Amino acid sequence: MPVQFTILGSGSSGNCAYLETTETRLLIDAGFSGRQIRQRLATISKAPEGLQGILITHEHSDHITGLGGLAAKLKIPVFCNRPTKDAIEAQMESQLEYHIFDTGASFEIGDVVIDTFSVPHDASDPVGFLLHTDCGRIGFVTDLGHATKLVLERARRANVLVLESNHDVKMLQEHPYRPWSLKQRVMSRHGHLSNEAAADATEEIMSSELRHLFLAHLSRDCNKPEIAHRVMNERLQKIGATHVCAELTSQNTPCGTLTLTAAAPPAPATWLPPAPFLPPPAPVSAPRPGELF
Ligand SMILES: [Zn+2]
Ligand SMILES: [Zn+2]
Repeated sequence: MPVQFTILGSGSSGNCAYLETTETRLLIDAGFSGRQIRQRLATISKAPEGLQGILITHEHSDHITGLGGLAAKLKIPVFCNRPTKDAIEAQMESQLEYHIFDTGASFEIGDVVIDTFSVPHDASDPVGFLLHTDCGRIGFVTDLGHATKLVLERARRANVLVLESNHDVKMLQEHPYRPWSLKQRVMSRHGHLSNEAAADATEEIMSSELRHLFLAHLSRDCNKPEIAHRVMNERLQKIGATHVCAELTSQNTPCGTLTLTAAAPPAPATWLPPAPFLPPPAPVSAPRPGELF
């Protein structure tokens, strides 16, 4: 059976994605109200009942708001590390069924294997995920101040990558109502990736395996979808990565469902960066009279 993957919404006010395989139905983060998540699932003819788990990247409200209204009510297991659990419990009283993983460990839910890895962000113990399915690997890398070697190494294995493209540096710097301290936090090494930083990370991880790139967690005030898209598309063109489709995510509307099949068209055998610019060869001059060659 094909694997179906839908980003139900992504941005600074809420993040949630849905994955369905032959044996497994999961959410990755639950950053909208339980009601919102139910409504968004309904747009793809799904319901939250029977979900086997909710994976949590970190405890910021745009990733956990729906836990009380969804996981607690429907008794859906919540998968996170211990510092994140402690931080969630400090914010909400709901009784949740936790499944604790150690950051860096891998575990299985049904037929999905989940690798976890640390990301640099101002939360208790934030993580990214690499989800291995029968039809390909899906990487989750949002909420990070910079792309560490570890992040690049994990993301490089993804066929589908959800990558933060949070802000346009100039729009953030010039924003009239944001306090300087907040601007500094966002731009710090434990803040969020700018459009340029997302493009840099993409260039570093580029492989023939990567086919689909979701630009995620766009700031409403300090970014514009068209800018994020243009910066990434220009970089993909520049490095010759024409086999990758870059798609915008939205805070308010679910993305179209991405269907992965085991019989996906094979990726090009190798992906090589374009050759460095070489000047055109000098014109061959006509042999001068008297020369034999
Ligand atoms: Zn965060
Ligand atoms: Zn966030």
